Amino acid sequence: SIAKFPYVRTLEGFDFQAQPSVDPKQIRELATGRWIANGDALLLLGPPGVGKTHLAVALGREAIHKGYSVLFTTATALMTTLTQAQAQGRLEERLTHYSKPKLLIVDELGYLPFESQAAHLFFQLVSRRYERGSLLITSNRSVGEWGEVFGDAVVATAILDRLLHHSHVITIRGESYRLREKRRAGLIR
Ligand code: ADP
Ligand code: MG
Repeated sequence: SIAKFPYVRTLEGFDFQAQPSVDPKQIRELATGRWIANGDALLLLGPPGVGKTHLAVALGREAIHKGYSVLFTTATALMTTLTQAQAQGRLEERLTHYSKPKLLIVDELGYLPFESQAAHLFFQLVSRRYERGSLLITSNRSVGEWGEVFGDAVVATAILDRLLHHSHVITIRGESYRLREKRRAGLIR
């Protein structure tokens, strides 16, 4: 596959009992891939360590098994690539590249704020993919904070307008899974 996942994670390996804010039924429904067939967006939101990337990778794997093309990237890598492509006069080529996969996974949106130029590039990508392919975005910031992430409330609203039109939003709460496991093992208090 072309997915380039950062690690191997599966839905079977996800401990739903440890994460009551995630509905296993909703995840099972998403695993069918119907949302991708519909071109819906999926937002996985929540603080660090709660399983956002795990679920993104696991759902990406399920999508590949269902025959969908999937590309995984971090928000930082995506924005660096698009910004460089623009500087080299190759933006169109890159936008086409990122528009091709039926599912594009953008991990860790919001860890770094975007330059205003980058926010516009991201908007172009979202517009390009709109109603053509699905976006799965993970973020540690709530959608209400995306104005800050994009450094531009107007662009953030335009992006959210498209993303939220046909979307599934899963907000994961709780503390980091790893911290929790360490606490359970008595390694920390
Ligand atoms: P983030 O929300 O920051 O993306 P990750 O998905 O990377 O967090 O989770 C951090 C680590 O904890 C990963 O190794 C992941 O597999 C594991 N993890 C998180 N939540 C769970 C869970 N509910 N069941 C099993 N492993 C989990
Ligand atoms: Mg992550």
